[in-house]
Amino acid sequence: MRRSPAVEMSELSWPEYRDLLAQGAPIVLPIGSMEQHGPHLPLGTDWMVVRELCRRVAAAIGGISAAPVIYGYKSHLRTGGGDVFPGTTNLSGAILTSVVREILSEFVRHGARRLLVVNGHYENEWFAREACDLAADDAAASGQEFRIVFLNWWDPGDDKYIATIYPANEPMRPELQHASWVETSMVLHLFPDLVRRDAYPPDEVAKYPPYDVFPSRNEWLPPSGAQSVVSTSTEEAGRALVEHYVAGIVAAARAEFALSPAAAQSPVLNSGGEDSG
Ligand code: ZN
Ligand code: MN
Repeated sequence: MRRSPAVEMSELSWPEYRDLLAQGAPIVLPIGSMEQHGPHLPLGTDWMVVRELCRRVAAAIGGISAAPVIYGYKSHLRTGGGDVFPGTTNLSGAILTSVVREILSEFVRHGARRLLVVNGHYENEWFAREACDLAADDAAASGQEFRIVFLNWWDPGDDKYIATIYPANEPMRPELQHASWVETSMVLHLFPDLVRRDAYPPDEVAKYPPYDVFPSRNEWLPPSGAQSVVSTSTEEAGRALVEHYVAGIVAAARAEFALSPAAAQSPVLNSGGEDSG
């Protein structure tokens, strides 16, 4: 039995993978990080959350869920704690760009024509986008028809909707959400056994000046590594956020890959070779 409704690239044989790509199945690549997320969340929060979102997206669009890029670009002091906390394992920008570019170029060489790249670690954004751009150049030079769609998982969020579930006592400031209400709620929903509920940090909102200093000014950091309020996190909010963001990512894929909901609703492997559109 499959553990997840998505078709996992890692679990396919090469003929199965080849045939799915030949039928037009999209391939969905998550990019994450290994980074401190306070005393209460796991180091793998970013890659595990984005991989789970990608599994749900892949299942909804009849796509293939690719193994994640686990390590990411350098954690930044004001958005993730920098390199101060043990466990944060940083790649340089050039390395991340090369890794993602080469993976995407390989997928195109395998026959992928619809590629969806979903980033789950704030600092990766422009390096991941650069990788998509360079991989597109590689594929165009080979004369292949293809489309790469890139987004961060939080990009399709509707601020008005999210404001309706945001805790009233916390200012809605996405730049201060590292290891705080959003991520804690999502991990409570997706991986409840991995939240240390007896290790929640004190509710304090980090205060930073609007600039960076090199070498970094580590005394600016909240000692816990969380940047904002954690105590108001709930599994229910996490479920609502996950469903909201997955729906937004699915809508982006359907728009750009011209997938009808009917054509994509069942995992392609179980559909007897029907064209996924
Ligand atoms: Zn995170
Ligand atoms: Mn991160």
